[in-house]
Amino acid sequence: MKGYAMLKIGESGWIEKERPSCGPMDAVCRPLAVAICTSDVHTLWEGAIGERHNMILGHECCAEVVEVGFLVKDFKPGDRVLVPAITPDWNSLEAQAGYSMHSGGMLSGWKFSNFKDGVFSEFFHVNDADGNLAHLPANISPVDACMLSDMVPTGFHGVELADVQFGDTVLVIGIGPVGLMSVAGANMRGASRIIAVGTRPVCIQAAEGYGATDFISYKNGSIEDQVLAMTSGKGVDEVIIAGGDCETFVSAIKCLKPGGKVGNVNYLGNGTYVTIPRVEWGVGMGHKQINGGLMPGGRLRMEKLSSLVSAGRLNVHPLCSHIFEGWDHLEEALFLMRDKPSDLIKPVVKLSD
Ligand code: NAD
Ligand code: ZN
Repeated sequence: MKGYAMLKIGESGWIEKERPSCGPMDAVCRPLAVAICTSDVHTLWEGAIGERHNMILGHECCAEVVEVGFLVKDFKPGDRVLVPAITPDWNSLEAQAGYSMHSGGMLSGWKFSNFKDGVFSEFFHVNDADGNLAHLPANISPVDACMLSDMVPTGFHGVELADVQFGDTVLVIGIGPVGLMSVAGANMRGASRIIAVGTRPVCIQAAEGYGATDFISYKNGSIEDQVLAMTSGKGVDEVIIAGGDCETFVSAIKCLKPGGKVGNVNYLGNGTYVTIPRVEWGVGMGHKQINGGLMPGGRLRMEKLSSLVSAGRLNVHPLCSHIFEGWDHLEEALFLMRDKPSDLIKPVVKLSD
């Protein structure tokens, strides 16, 4: 089979590989559509997970089941399925402790295009098919379904980590596709005011549609000065971080009310330490919590989040800003994600209806 692989850091291309085989609890699937992720860019060009040779990229897709192992109960060849980016081993001790995303070790629930071949391939392997796949609702297109692999669950996990409550004022730092889904999730959780930090018109327009009420630019001065000015010096109840770097935590803590929470889903690619400002952290006693997490993955989450889309409560289509058709355009879509033109949110490649 053909797959689009990272040949080494900074180099990619199509390669031939053996089609994966199916263990008793596994499935082999073929993608119906795939989406490119910021993480693919971090992996390939920034060496975010270290060196990899001939590893097929990609972890966002929706698919058709081609083969299942003899212990798989709920899926059969021909089924159309949602595929989460994070596919934990559900019988691991970490999953039993509530941290499925770390099954097998820190961040090890992330397998596609990390510990094994990803989904930019004619066929790909899914571990624990009953625990990780979900049936694709008939009224969700394969293109939209790709947003359920990672963007919706990660953005919404930021909302969970920040523990947004009814009536809260929430700051969302970074409104790429993940941050946009944090805006949507905070809105669904009943936030009264959602302040979004971002500059690109396409993202601002989408964020407005998802419920952001105020906008600031990190290019117009410090985030904290702007947020404190617009909240009469009080700050916000929660901060969701979906963009920025280690220094972004300085702004987040300075913007938080005492007792507030930070939910970080941003990948920190540089620096040794995350900076927490001592005074604004209440000299250690401010009850300001910092939670950072990889999204949990798995079937139940896919079923619940897709039900929001199929019931018309969440429209993910505005995220799919660039839609290509056919594998021939995969590389173009990937390079587009690297180059981030100002009108880009997500590139998606449709392979089948
Ligand atoms: P993205 O690059 O499209 O969006 C990030 C946004 O943050 C951009 O619009 C950028 O302009 C903005 N930004 C950059 N620096 C900023 C700053 N200092 N202050 C405010 N905004 C700033 O990326 P994305 O696809 O939306 O993903 C967001 C992050 O989430 C990435 O780091 C990605 O690797 C990570 N991620 C995490 C998980 C998880 O499970 N935790 C899953 C997927 C992606
Ligand atoms: Zn992703």
